[in-house]
Amino acid sequence: MVEAHTVPARGGGWFRLAQGAAIRIINTHGTQVVDTWAFSAADPAEFMSMEHSRLHMGRVNPQRGDALFSNRRRPILTVTEDTSGGVHDTLLAACDQYRYALLGHLGPHDNCTDTLHRQLRSAGLVVGHTPSPLNLFENARPGVDGSIEIRPPVSPPGSQVTLRAEMDVVVILSACPQDLVPTNGAAMTPREVEVELLPVD
Ligand SMILES: [Zn+2]
Repeated sequence: MVEAHTVPARGGGWFRLAQGAAIRIINTHGTQVVDTWAFSAADPAEFMSMEHSRLHMGRVNPQRGDALFSNRRRPILTVTEDTSGGVHDTLLAACDQYRYALLGHLGPHDNCTDTLHRQLRSAGLVVGHTPSPLNLFENARPGVDGSIEIRPPVSPPGSQVTLRAEMDVVVILSACPQDLVPTNGAAMTPREVEVELLPVD
């Protein structure tokens, strides 16, 4: 039985997955970037690591069939489905209060780093650092000269990515609240996304 959830615009969610279960992230509007983390449920000191994943995938953005790796070099999630066109980012840090201040925003701003730690507390996990996220649907592919520019996502509305747990994990999602650069589309408007939890086959 599939369990459906909504991650609200600018908000987050946490999801516990047994090994073999999967989470499907649906980009309802096509424009929303979803910062994604995974932590071992047994020991959250083991977590999905973009630095390790890039090496073992042999590329900078995961494609269907690729496993993402933990900081202990074990597969932690596998991309089993991707109808988005496969443009995701593994290079950029999660947004935080400092990012918005540098962009000229005065005062507090919702941000993915605070969302991560709020969701971790809600899940009963203590993690004192912020791993680099898998930025699903983020269009910041490097140019041939190595340059990076954040462009609007190219994922079609309703496109989806499914990630299968390769160990018992807690997955945390943040619907990125970026509204000062076109991370979340040319309209720079954060949107909600839908999530489905798929049981072990
Ligand atoms: Zn963000």
